[in-house]
Amino acid sequence: MDASGPVEQGVEATKGSPLIDPFGRRISYVRVSVTDRCDFRCVYCMSEHMTFLPKADVLTLEELDRICSAFVRHGVRKLRITGGEPLVRRGITSLFRAMSRHIDSGALDELALTTNGSQLAVYAGELRDCGVRRVNVSVDTLDADKFRKITRIGDLDKVKAGLEAARRVGLQVKINVVALKGVNEDELDHMVGWCGDRGFDMTVIEVMPMGDIGGEDRFDQYLPLSEVERRLGERWSLEKIDYRSGGPARYVRVGETGRKLGFITPLTHNFCEGCNRVRLTCTGTLYMCLGQSDAADLRAPVRASGNDDLLDAAIVEAITRKPKGHDFVIDRDHRAPAVGRHMSVTGG
Ligand code: SAM
Repeated sequence: MDASGPVEQGVEATKGSPLIDPFGRRISYVRVSVTDRCDFRCVYCMSEHMTFLPKADVLTLEELDRICSAFVRHGVRKLRITGGEPLVRRGITSLFRAMSRHIDSGALDELALTTNGSQLAVYAGELRDCGVRRVNVSVDTLDADKFRKITRIGDLDKVKAGLEAARRVGLQVKINVVALKGVNEDELDHMVGWCGDRGFDMTVIEVMPMGDIGGEDRFDQYLPLSEVERRLGERWSLEKIDYRSGGPARYVRVGETGRKLGFITPLTHNFCEGCNRVRLTCTGTLYMCLGQSDAADLRAPVRASGNDDLLDAAIVEAITRKPKGHDFVIDRDHRAPAVGRHMSVTGG
C-alpha cells in the first residue's frame, strides 16, 4: 500500500518545484536582510533614533541557512545578503561560508552582498574566499563632511579603505548612489568619473517612500532620475546596452570610462513587470514586493519542525500571492511613506 496520503503527496509536490508567480514571473532571486541594525543612520533610510528588534525575534544563522537553502532547492539562482548593515552581524561570514556550498555544487549562480562598506576592509578577503564575487557599496557622496551629514555617523575614509580592500582581493564593485535633491545632485557627474578611474560600475537610485524618517520630507529629497540621466548625458556619452544584472537597474555604458552606469527608477519608471525577486527579513518575514505590505511568515514553519516540509509549503504558498507591482508615488500630495517599514527592514 502507498504510505503517503494526500497531505504528504501535496507537500511532496512542493519540494523543489520552481517558483512561478500568478503573472508567470519566475522567482530566481532572493534578497536576505540578515539584521535590521546598522552602524549608519542615513537620513533617507532611518530616523536618528531607531528601535531595533529584540534578538529572540531574529533568525539564527542556522535558520537563515535553512531558509536560503530551501529557496535554492526551489530554483533560486541568486542570493543577495543585505540589511541593515550585514557586516555588523556577529558571525556573518559563517552564513557566507555555508552558502558557498551551493555555489560549489552549481545550484547557485551568485552570492552577492550589499554593504555600506564600513567593515569591508576587515571582511573583503574572507568574502572572496566564500565565493562572493560582486559587492554593492552604498556611497552617496565623496565629500567627507557631507557623507557624515547624510549617514549621521559614517566615516568616508573607512569606506574608501574598504573599497580599496575589495578591489585588491578582486571583488567587482558597484557603487550605489541615492540621488538626493540639493544634496548630491551636483556631484553625480564627478562620481561617474571617480568610479570609472577605479574600475567600479555605478548605479543611481531614486529615493523611495519607505518608513518614517523623522523630520525629513521625502518630497524635499526626491530627484527624478530622468533629469539626472539628461544632465549626465550632457557630460558623458551614455550608450544604451542590453545588460541586465538580474536586478531592477537599467544600464548604459559610459563611453569615456567603459564602465556601466545603472538607473533604478521605481518612481519615474516602474520596474515591476520583470520582477524576479522576493525579500526575506531577519525575522523570517517574506515580502513578495518591496512596495507592498502583504507578507508570509517563514519563521514559524522553520521553528515548528526540524524538517523542511512546512517551510517548503509556506514558500510555495507565498509566491502565489506575489502582487503585480508597487504603487510608489512622491509628489506634493504624497509625502507620507507608501509602506511603513524602512528599507533597512526589507533590505535594499
Ligand atoms: N547597509 C547596506 C548599505 O548601506 O548598502 C545595506 C542595506 S541599505 C538599506 C541598501 C540600499 O538601500 C542602500 O543603497 C541605501 O542607500 C538604499 N536605501 C535605503 N533607504 C532608501 C530609500 N528610502 N530609497 C532608496 N534607497 C534607499
